[in-house]
Amino acid sequence: GDFESVQLNQLIKEFADLAYQGKKSLINNLDILIHTELDSTITEVNIIPQKVGQVLQNIVENAIDSTWEHKKNSDSDFRPEIKISSFQKNGHTVIKVSDNGPGIPEHIKEKIFEPFFTTKPTGEGTGLGLSLSYDFITQIHNGKLELGDSELGGAAFIIRLPNSTSNT
Ligand code: ADP
Ligand code: MG
Repeated sequence: GDFESVQLNQLIKEFADLAYQGKKSLINNLDILIHTELDSTITEVNIIPQKVGQVLQNIVENAIDSTWEHKKNSDSDFRPEIKISSFQKNGHTVIKVSDNGPGIPEHIKEKIFEPFFTTKPTGEGTGLGLSLSYDFITQIHNGKLELGDSELGGAAFIIRLPNSTSNT
């Protein structure tokens, strides 16, 4: 895959929908509010679209898994919610995915990006999504993948892509 000029907001919508549709086909009556707040001044970014798309898909799939699981341990009026935003900050184009799930316990925060780390039952998680995502963003795109503060009370993942991608 080579770097291309891509409409980032369009890519976000496409891959978030891929994540949602994929999970919907596996989970009965999947009811999740997924909404976006996209900065319309972001036009094109120079990225490998399949790779950044896969990262976003992985992160949204994780958010669906954790919020849906959380619903089983919550009041009946709990509704899983995921917010995806895009914005510009400090010379980076940023994508943030927040959810209202249980969040990430402090003691596993440093492990979640390691290959094969998973808290999911055998057969349900490979533990490879975030480690692959980390490589795609940091190695291939010279960006950053970090945990942030969720506006919705659960977990938040932040993807930072440098605006001048000199892929050296
Ligand atoms: P997998 O999804 O196969 O478990 P990942 O690398 O995608 O592997 O994620 C690793 C682990 O990080 C998950 O098993 C889970 O414990 C944690 N995690 C990832 N995203 C979230 C989230 N949105 N909320 C809570 N925990 C999360
Ligand atoms: Mg995963």
